[in-house]
Amino acid sequence: DVKLQEAKNSIRDIVDFPKEGIVFKDITTMLKDQKHLNTLVESLYEQYKNRGITKVVGLESRGFILGTVLAYKLGAGFVPVRKPGKLPAPTYSEKYSLEYGEDEMFIHQDALNSEDVILVHDDLLATGGTAKASINLISKFNVKDVYINFLVELDFLNGREKLDTHYQVDSLFHF
Ligand code: 5GP
Repeated sequence: DVKLQEAKNSIRDIVDFPKEGIVFKDITTMLKDQKHLNTLVESLYEQYKNRGITKVVGLESRGFILGTVLAYKLGAGFVPVRKPGKLPAPTYSEKYSLEYGEDEMFIHQDALNSEDVILVHDDLLATGGTAKASINLISKFNVKDVYINFLVELDFLNGREKLDTHYQVDSLFHF
């Protein structure tokens, strides 16, 4: 698909961000372009429109950008998975390890229910720690089904293996 290829080509590499040795995939150069934004939303909508999605779970913070748009397009609700100290009501939490140290993700205890079909969305799958923690959070609710989507997957980091899930995982772009 030419439009998707053009969108992919607009993702910018930033060397040594946020620290030395990391090549950061900057998606802002893609999102700022109205035709690319349209292409992304329409492709994801086509992919998930017939899955009976009731809620999109977006991962803080870049998962909120298209997660909400997608929820609106799919006629679904939106639920944020957030970093420490952000969610005001009772939460479940999951720790996960980073390259250096630990972090933790949170979800409201009343966010999901057993009738829900979930689409998890984030901008990028790297090592898989963030997404794995989020899947663990969702597994605390007895939801009907879960789909997992990323705009970008860094194949060479094997995050997909770390996810270790039987749920369907799809990424629009692979590097
Ligand atoms: P992981 O937990 O899979 O190692 O890292 C994924 C998380 O970190 C995602 O929430 C993603 O937003 C962020 N992240 C890690 N590397 C990059 C990158 O190169 N570009 C962008 N846009 N986000 C990244």
